[in-house]
Amino acid sequence: METLKNYINGKWEVSKEQSTTDVVNPATQEVMAKVPYGAKTAEDLAKAVEAAQKAFQSWGQMPVMKRVQPLYKLKQLLEDNLEDLAKTITMECGKTLAESRGELQRAIENVEVACGMPVMIQSEFSENIAGGIDEFMIRQPLGVCGCISPFNFPGMIPFWFLPYAIATGNTFVLKPSEKVPLTMQKVFQLIDQLDLPEGVVSLVHGGKETVDAMLDHPQVKAISFVGSSKVAKYIYSRGAANGKRVQAQGGAKNPIVILPDADIEISTQIIADSTFGCAGQRCLAASNIVTVGDKNGTIKESLYESAKKRTTGYGLDEKIEMGPVINQASLKRISTLIDQGVDEGGKVLLDGRNAKISGFEKGNFISPTIIENLPLGGEIVKTEIFGPVISLIELNSIDEALEFVNSNAYGNMACIFTSSGANARKFRSQANAGNIGINIGVAAPMAQFPFSGWNESFFGDLHGQGRHGVEFFTQTKIVVERWPKEWSRKF
Ligand code: NAD
Repeated sequence: METLKNYINGKWEVSKEQSTTDVVNPATQEVMAKVPYGAKTAEDLAKAVEAAQKAFQSWGQMPVMKRVQPLYKLKQLLEDNLEDLAKTITMECGKTLAESRGELQRAIENVEVACGMPVMIQSEFSENIAGGIDEFMIRQPLGVCGCISPFNFPGMIPFWFLPYAIATGNTFVLKPSEKVPLTMQKVFQLIDQLDLPEGVVSLVHGGKETVDAMLDHPQVKAISFVGSSKVAKYIYSRGAANGKRVQAQGGAKNPIVILPDADIEISTQIIADSTFGCAGQRCLAASNIVTVGDKNGTIKESLYESAKKRTTGYGLDEKIEMGPVINQASLKRISTLIDQGVDEGGKVLLDGRNAKISGFEKGNFISPTIIENLPLGGEIVKTEIFGPVISLIELNSIDEALEFVNSNAYGNMACIFTSSGANARKFRSQANAGNIGINIGVAAPMAQFPFSGWNESFFGDLHGQGRHGVEFFTQTKIVVERWPKEWSRKF
């Protein structure tokens, strides 16, 4: 069985760490590879940072137009290898092939946006700001930047950062999730074909020890993290205490409000896609669905019908609409939360627990589940489930709905379905969340916009993607300049 190698200084290298953890296909339980996991991965990390620091000396000085050239080729390589990468994502992460292709498309879009860096990095200039003085701002790279990514979007999330970091002149060290390292392993085989100087991008496998080494390394200037809130908070605190710039995106608990004036059939279909897409393992998955004034249960009925007919199975089968969750521990956690909801008085309207998929009996499957009658402060209503479960909440007015939405400790996304512009506007303005959807179920910002997030969903200031990517990966320098006439030689 293959133990994955690191990619350091432009070469594939065996890790210093001999202990490994298994990469397991969540549908079949087949062990796909072994990944280095243990204290000595810190040495691998240090070696990658050393190479990145050396590479930075010349990469950071290279004209931006030259720095973006490898990104054009990377886009082409990602497109040419999209099917193979999508299959890898489905096999190690569990999502359907259509979902895997979709996340790769989002990755490519970030490469495309970063290709615009020659224009994006341009800054401000003011002539004659006072008595013949000109003033301008330039953006310069930070140095070595580290990235730590989660399991649920193995192909996309590193691309929220990597293209912006290197196009702005930084060097970049990535530690992917140890649960799904194979996608980036393949992406780095493509990166190896680029005309990039050695050390500009590196891949180091591992877990907490690798992360801690990154957080403590004095030459790492910035950290981009995406994962659960608990770890995000830890990364932010430890990284910032060590003087680093940190952007740490955390977990979520996303509410969607549906008003009776919405198109019920279309809206409930979109809402079901939001909850059950990627088996609910999306930071923008809808979790608490709030119906307003649904006295005769029309919305509930439509949501139930939409959820019930979804097919669960192995994502490599194109007919499947929902794959397994990542591992047995996650499956157990989701079932325990549902049990807790029932203990709190909840009624399971649609029960996806103990889903048995023919031919994949060992897979981590749970089918769409809906639970209602939950107390508003209950555990399942507050906790991130990260599985295909709708908590159905019935309220009487948009004000009650907004109060509920704003009681959320997280703030990744909040959505409303309505045909009323006035209600949509009120919601957009008053909902406390970083990403708002109006008649949209997954309010994922496109690459040219920052991927926002508030409260426990984000620690830091500047988010990933778009202009925030440029700002996060550069430090500003202000130049105040005077050229007195009388100092010039006369010709
Ligand atoms: P996780 O926090 O368990 O792991 C994320 C990364 O941190 C991994 O690379 C892991 O190796 C590392 N890590 C884990 N525990 C650590 C520790 N104690 N110390 C240092 N490093 C540690 O998250 P996950 O389970 O891989 O991903 C799912 C979570 O990510 C969910 O909470 C989801 O909402 C969140 N997420 C958020 C966004 C967003 O944009 N806000 C996007 C995707 C996923």
